[in-house]
Amino acid sequence: MEISKKLFGKTKDGLDVHAFTLKNNQGSYITFLDYGATVRAIVIKDASGIDRDICLGYNTVSDYENNDGYLGACIGRVGNRIGKGQFTLNGVSYQLALNDGENHLHGGIKGFDKHLFDVETSENSITFSRVSPDGEENYPGNLKLSVTCTFNDDNQFILDYHAVSDQDTIINLTNHTYFNLSGENDGDITDHLLQLNAASFTANDNACLPTGEILPVSGSSFDFRSPKVIGKEINHNEQQLLRAGGYDHNFVLDGKGMRQIAIVSSPKTHLSLNVYTDKPGVQFYSGNFLTGQIGKSGSAYAKRSGFCLETQYFPNAMACRNFPSPVLRADEEYHFTTIYEFIN
Ligand code: BGC
Repeated sequence: MEISKKLFGKTKDGLDVHAFTLKNNQGSYITFLDYGATVRAIVIKDASGIDRDICLGYNTVSDYENNDGYLGACIGRVGNRIGKGQFTLNGVSYQLALNDGENHLHGGIKGFDKHLFDVETSENSITFSRVSPDGEENYPGNLKLSVTCTFNDDNQFILDYHAVSDQDTIINLTNHTYFNLSGENDGDITDHLLQLNAASFTANDNACLPTGEILPVSGSSFDFRSPKVIGKEINHNEQQLLRAGGYDHNFVLDGKGMRQIAIVSSPKTHLSLNVYTDKPGVQFYSGNFLTGQIGKSGSAYAKRSGFCLETQYFPNAMACRNFPSPVLRADEEYHFTTIYEFIN
């Protein structure tokens, strides 16, 4: 395993942003930025030895500073949406920023995606850490968090999240990598085959906010329990799909503890992605709101040119008491692991 570091650029405030690359003995590599603990590139050799960069990313720090799609970023303190940005904890009401219509999205105006992280490297991993101070984006408690990103010789990318707070708070960390297993400049991902081990999903309102209703996937376009091409039913005239312009839903994952939750593959490169996690849910987002951002190789990232599988607690969980609680009690440990495994 080789680890290298180089200057990537400077933030608008003049701070250095570094790129770190972990390269394994297959010659595959992942490049991260300390800005947003961002995954900028995932380059996997396909079966014929061609390097395929399968993750959407940008060329400059300012592109990341203006990153409305959260490309590759660590998302926190709470991933996805909180209705009206409000929650009550221990009898105290909190009002968070409304940065997605009338709701709060992905940690607020300056979420974790827009912060520089401290970095520590070891043999085959990089740990990104920071302290999110009490009151940051109006969340309670000083939160000390880290995500250790390991890349091993079996092409497994392991994200290990740890956090502890000095007050009760809420937390839902995830990563917002957009994958395109045909290559980051190859256009639409709707030809990919997806299997998602989830018998139900959480229904959204018009603003992609879960209402609390849990619907069975059976008999709907949301049934990916057997492999199905993503585009097969994506344009069906179903209210849940029309509301999100495609898939942008939290799936209730079958089983508990560390388990395989998804397999995705590209018919072009035959690269596959296996996803494992010990979290209860995953946001399957088919990149419906990508708007032609210019990516690393100069091509525009149009609608559906990448997909995300964001492992998570169910969004809007403080308002939906039937959802697993995202409350982290003072001095207790938050710890979750997600593995993205690439098969060539
Ligand atoms: C959400 C989308 C949102 C996107 C932001 C996803 O996690 O589910 O609704 O538009 O992030 O790029």
